[in-house]
Amino acid sequence: MSMDKINGTIVKGIGGFYYVEAADTLYECKARGVFRKNKVTPFVGDHVTVSLEKDGTCTIEEILLRKNSLVRPPVANIDQLIIVVSICDPSPSTLIIDKTIAAAEDKGIEPVIVISKSDLKDCQWLIDIYQTTGIPLLTISSATGEGVEEVVKLLDGKISAFTGNSGVGKSSLLNRIDSRFHLQTGEISQKLGRGRHTTRQVEFLKLGENTYVADTPGFSSISVERYDLVKKENLQYCFREFEPYLNQCKFVSCSHTCEKGCAVLKAVEEGVISKSRHESYLAMYNEVKDLKEWN
Ligand code: GDP
Ligand code: ZN
Repeated sequence: MSMDKINGTIVKGIGGFYYVEAADTLYECKARGVFRKNKVTPFVGDHVTVSLEKDGTCTIEEILLRKNSLVRPPVANIDQLIIVVSICDPSPSTLIIDKTIAAAEDKGIEPVIVISKSDLKDCQWLIDIYQTTGIPLLTISSATGEGVEEVVKLLDGKISAFTGNSGVGKSSLLNRIDSRFHLQTGEISQKLGRGRHTTRQVEFLKLGENTYVADTPGFSSISVERYDLVKKENLQYCFREFEPYLNQCKFVSCSHTCEKGCAVLKAVEEGVISKSRHESYLAMYNEVKDLKEWN
């Protein structure tokens, strides 16, 4: 049997079908059974090879090498993770922010911090913690529109996913960016019990040429779970502002937790590295230091 093969990107998955975009055409595809046997599931964002049969059937034959992937929601090949943190209601946890940043850094995804609800409270203390890290940072309000244009600019030409606890204002922000997002803001979603009754699905919304945002109804957040824990050896590289100091420590094997002659600790003392960030590092280091097995 002769058939054509094309390469494309999965932009949507629903009810066992995958929608693959290739040269501005959308193909409805089934996945080969072999993926199920190997426990590999095609993710939205996967670059795939599709066979086009004469009868019109399209089948995903191969998943090409992933640059990175997230499990909740399942997406692959993301360029940047937009971490939405509200300045209040709910109040931010710097440890959760830093765990999310580290998980992104570890996977080679650019983290971006968006501080939301700036109309409600002064954000300076949080800005102070992060503006010396080198991580892109924006302050926004979906109520007043402050900073929303900057977020739009940041998305341009990239594939992005949004994350953040329930209630931080992700839906409100995305609704301001594009009305096509399948989202409900706070009050309505609580009434409908979003998350329990909504189908969980992922779709790439095309905002412009080469610009996509993962629309993830039913997923409250990308959760930092066990599979997102960063290994002890990698942890120091997931705090990008530590980088200039890492090879200045007295001991090559320095853990940057308590050693004499640690250049990272010195930078923390001098206020060059923020204390809050180093506290998160310590907490994360203690969580993983005795773990031996990694699945
Ligand atoms: P999500 O769960 O992260 O999608 O958060 P929502 O977008 O549903 O917002 C949760 C609640 O915060 C809703 O009641 C929103 O109206 C409110 N909210 C969201 N963004 C802002 C903002 O910038 N300023 C203010 N004052 N309230 C906001
Ligand atoms: Zn050190």
